[in-house]
Amino acid sequence: MKNVNMNKVILILTDGMHPNALNYVKKAQEFIADSASTMQGYSVMPSDTLPCHFSLFKSVDPKKHTITTNGYTAPEKDYRTICDVLCLNGLKSAMFYSWEQLKYLTRPNDIAYSCYINKDFYGNKDTVKKLTNSVVDFLDNDFASFVFLHYDLIDDIGHNFGWMSSEYTDAVSFVWDEIYKVLEHTDKNTTVIVISDHSGHDNDHGDEVDTLIPVMIRGKGFEKGSTLNDASIKDIAPTVTKILGINADDEWDGKSLL
Ligand SMILES: [Zn+2]
Repeated sequence: MKNVNMNKVILILTDGMHPNALNYVKKAQEFIADSASTMQGYSVMPSDTLPCHFSLFKSVDPKKHTITTNGYTAPEKDYRTICDVLCLNGLKSAMFYSWEQLKYLTRPNDIAYSCYINKDFYGNKDTVKKLTNSVVDFLDNDFASFVFLHYDLIDDIGHNFGWMSSEYTDAVSFVWDEIYKVLEHTDKNTTVIVISDHSGHDNDHGDEVDTLIPVMIRGKGFEKGSTLNDASIKDIAPTVTKILGINADDEWDGKSLL
């Protein structure tokens, strides 16, 4: 089913992308000019991938969702995710990722389509390209109100070569080329959010300083070239539901940026 008349949101998360790296990437600067954005957005503590993603999807702090490491243990209280709320409203979600722990963001039946590619089999860069191709194929032939795309490469290069090293900024540039391939397959009813879960320093992240993230939103209602004020990773879930015309979950703590 393809329905170009319905609003949709594509959330592209580039793991470990530091806002300062965007100064080196022409396509990122183009996107920023076309978006409402901030380079002073903030994530949560600990600034590690799984805790940050749970705060992104459940709009609460780690002390509430209780995922405080990259290992997953089922929480006693399970706050609703973006996909849960969309599903309750009859809307489809799709997810494309290569970091396996992100499977814990979904629950049985709450998403329509899931694509996981194991980078251990395909290599880092080819995995990014395969994810891009999978998303593009989906956008051209299917429809979901919410598409989540996670690129892992930048974080991996940060750990191996250091945040803001030349290898790191090259990886950021490589990923933005892929982002633009996805953008070519979006229409005027699509809002595109590009964000990171955390930044990083030296060869790691997890500290307060690493909660600094870029937040960029391109679409209807987001003034081009404007600044988003006080943008938290917890604000993304209520922003997505607002764009799609449905209510945020009562238990979410974030606010809509729209
Ligand atoms: Zn990492």
